[in-house]
Amino acid sequence: MAKTGENNQFQLFQPSMTAQITRRLKLEQRLRRAVLDDTQLVLFYQPKIDLQTGEIIGVEALIRWEHPEEGMLSPAEFIPIAEASNFIVELGDWVLVSALKQIARWNQLNHSIEVAVNVSVKQLLHGNISQRIFVLTQQMNIHPQQVQLEITEDKLMDNLDHIITQLQLLEQYGFILAIDDFGTGHSSLSRLKSLPFKVLKIDQSFVANITTDKNNAQLISAIISMGHSLDKIMIAEGIETIEQMKLLQSLKCEQGQGYLFSRPLPAHEITHLLQHPADMRERYLQTPSKTI
Ligand code: C2E
Ligand code: MG
Ligand code: MG
Ligand code: MG
Repeated sequence: MAKTGENNQFQLFQPSMTAQITRRLKLEQRLRRAVLDDTQLVLFYQPKIDLQTGEIIGVEALIRWEHPEEGMLSPAEFIPIAEASNFIVELGDWVLVSALKQIARWNQLNHSIEVAVNVSVKQLLHGNISQRIFVLTQQMNIHPQQVQLEITEDKLMDNLDHIITQLQLLEQYGFILAIDDFGTGHSSLSRLKSLPFKVLKIDQSFVANITTDKNNAQLISAIISMGHSLDKIMIAEGIETIEQMKLLQSLKCEQGQGYLFSRPLPAHEITHLLQHPADMRERYLQTPSKTI
């Protein structure tokens, strides 16, 4: 009898679990095909703003997947699937090559901006990524300082000894290294000091309530001071209001990114903004205040 009960329970859970696993497997298969065919995947670019001058200093490349049946899929859905299966290494290479090609196109138009690319820790663990990027940038005539590599903090410290060599090589080649989602992981200050990261990107969860919650404002102020005392460039992500921007300016946070300035855009729209810089300022200076 007990056995039947167990079986019943098992049968209750099975269909939904199977459905989820099947969906993941299907997505992964189609993602592999999308990379091979070089169709369906596209990079969008979100401006990064110098908070003192208001100018675009660069963009972050963010992948999008135009799925034939499901429409535009968010990386939050498919990047974890790719991460789980190591396919992220190939997908990450596609992202890298596509972003570098776009830098080369902008360079040809005399817009030598920096482009940040999200890199998975797995890409640092498999193959010689520093050599790969170096060769690609040489072939495409791209200055290494134009390439910023963002590595998410929570995954960073896990296999640190294995990836430290790659990080050091990347830095020696002149690429800029950034810690993404800073504050959500567990990097120790002493480790942080010894690693070759030049930029810390403060996670958007810290920015979200800075103008309404005094504790959050104090917290972000402490994070920025700490970063500066370690000689890091600080960038705040997820800036959505003018008030947040002003507070971050007053805390001497160097750079900002967020919907206030712009959502991630297709490359040609970034080209337009680079050609008409005044349009950029108008975009956010006219945005009505959301918090007062
Ligand atoms: P991330 O690198 O931390 O990127 C920031 C995310 O916040 C992006 O989401 C961006 O669209 C969103 N965002 C920007 N400004 C705002 C704002 O003002 N408010 C809010 N609420 N959100 C904002 P997205 O594009 O969906 O990407 C999610 C994550 O997926 C990224 O987080 C990154 O970890 C990962 N990802 C995206 N593209 C790639 C890629 O090419 N390779 C890898 N390995 N990961 C990627
Ligand atoms: Mg990022
Ligand atoms: Mg981030
Ligand atoms: Mg993130």
